Amino acid sequence: MTDTADRDPEFAFELRVCRWAERAWHPDGPRPAFVARQLGTRDRRWDTVVVEVDPEAFAARRALSTEGFDSDLLRVVRHAPADWQWYRDAIPEPDFPWRHVVPAVHRAAGRGVVEKRRGSRNRVEYRQTTPYPDWVERIVAIENKPDLDASAARALADQLEHDVERGLADEVWVATEATGDRVEPALLEDLPVEVGILSLDDGTMDVLWHPSTLTPDPDDARRRLVLAERAYDRGWRSYVDTMRPDCRHFELARRGMALVPRCAAKDCFQSQRECAHSCSAFEPEPPAWRMNGWPIEGGPGKGLRELLRARRERERERTESAG
Ligand code: SF4
Repeated sequence: MTDTADRDPEFAFELRVCRWAERAWHPDGPRPAFVARQLGTRDRRWDTVVVEVDPEAFAARRALSTEGFDSDLLRVVRHAPADWQWYRDAIPEPDFPWRHVVPAVHRAAGRGVVEKRRGSRNRVEYRQTTPYPDWVERIVAIENKPDLDASAARALADQLEHDVERGLADEVWVATEATGDRVEPALLEDLPVEVGILSLDDGTMDVLWHPSTLTPDPDDARRRLVLAERAYDRGWRSYVDTMRPDCRHFELARRGMALVPRCAAKDCFQSQRECAHSCSAFEPEPPAWRMNGWPIEGGPGKGLRELLRARRERERERTESAG
């Protein structure tokens, strides 16, 4: 099956880039990392985000929780003291009222990542179960553009210029589909010189241009950690959460090294947008499919979700043991 069967070539390409990065990061030599997609800040969303980690610290982070922390939880967990302390003595003063911090202390305790109690004067005190590790090494942004022609390069240039100037990521790349043709030097001229260019050909990636290492602002440390936590929470297979694996036509098909969603009814790699509640071709899984060894409370759709979740955990174990 070729890209002509893609309803959304950028989506299918993005999943292949994510899978490549998961298996083969970094282009200059192996570095332990995990991958997420469609993440960023309020002003800028990146297609693919690679978070390079210290494997031992990453193992400690996974031991703390297999789910990511939102920014409120992160504030509480990261500053959790070793011994019982009033939360206001442990956490740096936020730029919003203190009373909004208390629910996050309760949530963190509910998830078992801190312990809490009522101390003197009925104050909420808490302490860590284990320390929050220093697990993030570098954050890398990849913009995916399967058809990187001159006009696409020009359109991308401003965004990439912003990424380079903003310096929230340590490195920025553009990934494009290999065409077999030499990349025109004029095309490279349209992109900031600091941005690397990758060319994906089935499962292999070539570096067409090496990026510069950017220097993130130390004041962005918390913002970067919030981003890394969201990446950890989402991963790149979470696309399935907004699609319809419970439709009888939903399949996962091998594409190079990646498993990508395919619609048997439309005989195509469907877009994320069309494979939704509004799809007129949706048909629920027949109840009989919900037996025959599939999870008791769900049919193949539930099984596919579980398969993707298990793959994510397997890859994270591999990252952990890379140390
Ligand atoms: S028929 Fe619609 S809902 Fe079902 S798999 Fe195809 S695109 Fe998704």
